[in-house]
Amino acid sequence: MSGQNQESFPCAEAVVFAVRGEIDIANATQLCAALLHATDRPDCHCLVVDLSRVEFMDLSGVRALYECRRVLAWEGRHMVLAEPSAAVERVLTALHMEHDFEIYPIVEAALVHTARQRYEEGPRTGVRGCE
Ligand SMILES: [Zn+2]
Repeated sequence: MSGQNQESFPCAEAVVFAVRGEIDIANATQLCAALLHATDRPDCHCLVVDLSRVEFMDLSGVRALYECRRVLAWEGRHMVLAEPSAAVERVLTALHMEHDFEIYPIVEAALVHTARQRYEEGPRTGVRGCE
């Protein structure tokens, strides 16, 4: 076993999932399910979570992202956050979790380490409509 280096994930194909609206205890579980659903394909190695349109996020939302990243890592997939909105930055900072995630200032920067790109719009407000 060599070291567990996050950079060693093969990120040929990336899915960009845009999260919008408010993420709280009412839809955090759905968010995690939607993110995992978006990556549930053999050619997806990397999930880029675009958080630029998130208007509100609380602890349950952060927990959902953390749990999702854990599951994806276990599957050998990579997950990064991109463009956290002020609301997201605030909660990450308050929870001292801003270093627990790989965070890129813009989506394009998050995609630099991937060979190819694939864009996928997340559902509007929250994650309704995604089983
Ligand atoms: Zn990656």
